[in-house]
Amino acid sequence: MSKKILTALCLTGLLLHAEETRPKNIILFIGDGMGIAQVTAGKIAKGTLEMERCPVAGLASTWSADHLTTDSAAAATALATGTKTDNGMLSLNPEGQRLKTVLEIAEDQKKSTGLVCNCAVTHATPAGFATHVPSRQQYVEIARQLADSDVDVLFGGGLAYFSPSNAPSCLPQLQNKMPLATTAEEFYALGTPEKAAALLYPEHPPHVAERTVSLKELTQKAIEILVQDEDGFFLMVEGSQIDWAGHKNDAANIISEVIDFDDAVGVGLDFAEKNGRTLVIITADHETGGFAVIDGTLAEKTVSQTGFIHKKHTASMVPVFAEGPASSRFSGIMDNTDIGKTMIELIQTSE
Ligand SMILES: [Zn+2]
Repeated sequence: MSKKILTALCLTGLLLHAEETRPKNIILFIGDGMGIAQVTAGKIAKGTLEMERCPVAGLASTWSADHLTTDSAAAATALATGTKTDNGMLSLNPEGQRLKTVLEIAEDQKKSTGLVCNCAVTHATPAGFATHVPSRQQYVEIARQLADSDVDVLFGGGLAYFSPSNAPSCLPQLQNKMPLATTAEEFYALGTPEKAAALLYPEHPPHVAERTVSLKELTQKAIEILVQDEDGFFLMVEGSQIDWAGHKNDAANIISEVIDFDDAVGVGLDFAEKNGRTLVIITADHETGGFAVIDGTLAEKTVSQTGFIHKKHTASMVPVFAEGPASSRFSGIMDNTDIGKTMIELIQTSE
């Protein structure tokens, strides 16, 4: 083989390698309150989890700037911006200065962006990616900032916060930019516009058995819309209610919410495997309940005995799974801010 051909081959290899390590799209799945025991319980009940398709696994510490045990607002800020803040704050640093989020940086790169959750879209985790407020309780202000943002896909609940009784409605502003579905029928009739919002409940959606549109269906539709952008996309999908079941020390609901979340993860991984240029990251914002699995049967897929430490969050590390270009960056032990920093670096260098 001539030296020239060898050099050409090496260069092609380098180029291929460079491309492989730079995702065009990122899908971040956050299981709120999903610690290792929650994943374990889901696996026992489901048999095999979609998450297990990820070749890369790691652990992330979740402490916030002012507490060893984080809340969802500080954790969302860490994941979205790569910077720690105080509990309760959304994408502002502890001094109140605005922090740019991975979603906003993706928009700067002309990528499309989406937020999908099974809580009100004004709740801490989705809000942390596109709004900046000192208190996560400022739902009406969060709705106003979301309506004002460049988010292209906004799926969840929380319609009431967009047209509150005590403040001007920001729904017209949202609807000027994109079609809005407020019922399951309207959601299924959305088609694939360039942007879309679905605020399917006045506040939070009910628990899994009563939800009219599944997280899996929301995720599928979000990907169908976002993939139309040839510049790529960033999508955050939250399984919001694993945490709420943890707060109630309700093992059965933890399991059904983890399985529901995992079904949505499967849609993301199916897309990533076909697409080849999509990084999928699955993690949690914190663990809830100090949950443990004590007994059950693999053959019958049952979890018969569980335990909880208390009804709040814990400081335990959370699992991280990844698949796709640059997924190896998410192996080993990291901090939640490392996940944010790495996503931002990858989005900034993405073509
Ligand atoms: Zn919680």
